[in-house]
Amino acid sequence: MIVRMDSRHRRRCFTLAELLVMIAITASLVSILLPVLLRARDKASAATCAGNMRKIGIAVYIYVDENADFLPYSDYVGAYSESNPAPQELLHVYYRNARAFVCPTDATPENYNWWRFGGHASFRSGSSYMFSEQAIRHSNPVASMKRPTRFGFMSEGYVCSNGSTWNTLNQFNGLTGWGIRVDWDHMLQVNVLWGDGHVKAVHQRSAAVKVRSDPKN
Ligand SMILES: [Zn+2]
Repeated sequence: MIVRMDSRHRRRCFTLAELLVMIAITASLVSILLPVLLRARDKASAATCAGNMRKIGIAVYIYVDENADFLPYSDYVGAYSESNPAPQELLHVYYRNARAFVCPTDATPENYNWWRFGGHASFRSGSSYMFSEQAIRHSNPVASMKRPTRFGFMSEGYVCSNGSTWNTLNQFNGLTGWGIRVDWDHMLQVNVLWGDGHVKAVHQRSAAVKVRSDPKN
């Protein structure tokens, strides 16, 4: 009887120790795997985002083909007007998927009020991708692009305003009153649709230096 009680006691202690070890191992595994899983999720989101941009790039070139080789033109600067559609709306004609204009990492695309699409039924969810104003607000033929591989036609984050360079994300953090929404990135990178149609990410802090905003420059 005494032997059986000791045996049960030993077994209970061992089970408790085993449980503690299991908890420790699980905690270690979670701490190791969680960053890996989050990185994998970030990479998947960045890839989806880049895929969105490539499709929009194809829409740009269909637009160009149908508009005498001119890039999309819009004087849209905030107020929705049917006679003055935003570039997203111009391109939506050729690629009818408004969700493609939203980066999967961008949780609040509707917060951005500069390129907001007030009355446009398809774009109530907003857009993550912004266009170079120097390209959009001037009538530019494709042939005017001096260095298409270095000219950023569209980027996620903040648009470059007319006459300035691309400035994305954290550089403008805090200026929310101006309607700038800077709450996402892809591990500090932002995707860019370049003038020749390729999509490649740049570090958000180097966007102003590496991405040309003027197609004629
Ligand atoms: Zn993105």
